[in-house]
Order: sequence, then C-alpha cells, then structure tokens
Amino acid sequence: MTIAPYNPTSVHPLFPQFCPCSDCPYYLNLDNYITKDGTYPVKTENQRRQRLYCHLGEHRFSEMAYSPLFGHHGSFFEYTQTAKMSSYGLSCDQIADVLERDTRTILQWQKALGQKSQSFHLALCTLIGLTLTFLQMDEIWSYLKKKKRQMWVFITLEASTKFWVNFELGSRTGHTANRLLKRLVYMMPFGFADFLLITTDKLAAYETAIALYFQKVRYAYLQIVKQRIKKRLVTVKKRLVTGKESDFGQKTQNTSYIERFNLTLRQKVSYLNRKTLGYCKSQKQAQWVMWLNLFDYNYCQFHKSLRQDLTGQSVKFQRRYNHLTPAMKMGLTSTRLEWRDLIVAPIPQKAHHFVTSTGL
Ligand SMILES: [Zn+2]
Repeated sequence: MTIAPYNPTSVHPLFPQFCPCSDCPYYLNLDNYITKDGTYPVKTENQRRQRLYCHLGEHRFSEMAYSPLFGHHGSFFEYTQTAKMSSYGLSCDQIADVLERDTRTILQWQKALGQKSQSFHLALCTLIGLTLTFLQMDEIWSYLKKKKRQMWVFITLEASTKFWVNFELGSRTGHTANRLLKRLVYMMPFGFADFLLITTDKLAAYETAIALYFQKVRYAYLQIVKQRIKKRLVTVKKRLVTGKESDFGQKTQNTSYIERFNLTLRQKVSYLNRKTLGYCKSQKQAQWVMWLNLFDYNYCQFHKSLRQDLTGQSVKFQRRYNHLTPAMKMGLTSTRLEWRDLIVAPIPQKAHHFVTSTGL
C-alpha cells in the first residue's frame, strides 16, 4: 500500500480541511465540510489572505487559524524571513534587528513556527509513513547559558534519503537516547519494514536503548569506535553488536553521513554555532528552533546528493538535473514546500489528536 505524497496545492485525503476554531462544536471534526469563502486584505502586506467557511458550525475563519501564528501581528513576509534567518544561523537578536521588531516578538514567532513544523513533520511521518533502511545516530555537544551546563542534541538521520527523522535535547545519558528511540517507534505506527541497518558511535546508551525499543524490528547494528589522542583521530574500529558483517555493504560501515550532517546543523542553528554569543539560553526555545530547522532541511531545501541526472551529459538549453528534497526522496511530499505552505497546512497543532481520530 502506497499513500500519495503531500502536495500543498491540493487537498490530501489523509489531511482534509477541518474547523480549527476551538470554540466551535465541530472543532477538529473530520465529517465537516469546508469551502473557500473569499479573501480579505491585511494592512501589513499586499497579498490577500484566504477565508474559509465551516459548514456545520456555520461560521467563517481565516487560513491563518491553522497555525499558532494566528493573532500574531506579522505579515507572511516577516514570518518567512524569520524562519529563513533562523535557519541560516542568525540569533534572535540579529533577526529582531533586521526586521525592526522586538526580540520577544521574534521568540514568539520562532516558537509558533517551530510548533507547526513539529506537528506537520509528525503528522506526515506517521500518516504517510516512512521507509527506513539505514539509520545513523549521533549526538552533538552544546551548552545552556554556561559551558558547564552541557546540552546534547541527539539526532537520527536516514542515510540513504538524507532524511532527518528526529532529534532530542538533553544530557548525554541513557534517558535522552531512550526518548529518542521511543519517539522514533511512535513515529512508525505501521511498524518497520524488512530490515534495518544502524550505525552509531560507541556511546553505550544507544546499545541499551536500541535493544529495548527495537525488540520487534529486524536489524543489524554496528558501532564505530573512534580512538583519539590529543583530539587527533588515531584508529577507527568497528564493533558488530547485532547481525552479520556481510549485512553492511561497502559504504555503510561508517557514521560519515551524520557527521557531515552535524556540520550542516552547526552552520544553520545559531545555538549550535561555536564560539559565538548566539549560544542557547533556553532549552525550550532551542527545541523550537531545531524543529524549524528540521522543516527547512527536510522539506524546503534541495539536497545536492539527491539530484537525479536526467540526461547524463550537459546539453545546451536542456535541464540536466532533477532536484529533490529529502522529504521528496522519502515519498512524503511531491514538491519542495514554502514556509507559507507550512503555515496554512490543515494540520492540527497537536498532531496526536488527529492521529487518534483517523483510527491509528
Ligand atoms: Zn467550526
């Protein structure tokens, strides 16, 4: 069974429009009938906004009501700029200065965009479904307010599609690794397909967490043990935990993809930039900015290594490559998404409401 990928220009059968007004008796009701009902102008921008009509509740609402940005007095342009600057590694003070807004306003927008990114990502992953074949997990070091308070970001990357599956913030212990794996299993309500390859570094927390949460999954697990003397890499050893050495092909006995990805992240998230003042002051805010970046990386940006060569050679006036985002490669979306598509996407703020109401 394959489910059609999400396309922002048409209504997807799994993501029907619903009434987003919590005071309406037909709030989140999926048997509702929603139609377009004209547009309305906004002072702050030229583009008009779409108005919709809830037929059961007999009232109108704005397309903005589908996102927590509803009621925030910014324009689409400003929201998009905030999102883009947040994913180019600018700190909120810098963004506030560029947009001539208050820093607290930018923090609120980042939070709202992060919340919507999270519910969007979880809804698409759980309802359309992921195909995981090769997972790499790693953690990046960062700190909260002062260097002594360590904050680690645990990350799961699907290496063959370069899809950033999920992440978790916390200490470098089993707790964070357990949460990472627990949420990963939650994102796979249809279970895991076939056979899974996993590579991580030597952190013991992964081994126990994988053994605990992947009991029903067929997998092979390889640890890459790197030995460093005075920060210089001396040896790389492989330690097979589960499975056979032959399960892993030539290019899979490493954690290279995620290490390259870590570099991308350090570049893009101001909280992970090294030796700057844009470090993290609040873990909650860091989480929203990470979600925002996850959306940008998975759904908005084309990934260079995923491009498909159409002609095999460069021919004049002919398009050579077909570019893909990680989400397109994963089969979740049919096109590259814009930030506006995220803001007006008919996905409830708490995705699990929706997941339970559709019978999963
Ligand atoms: Zn309604």
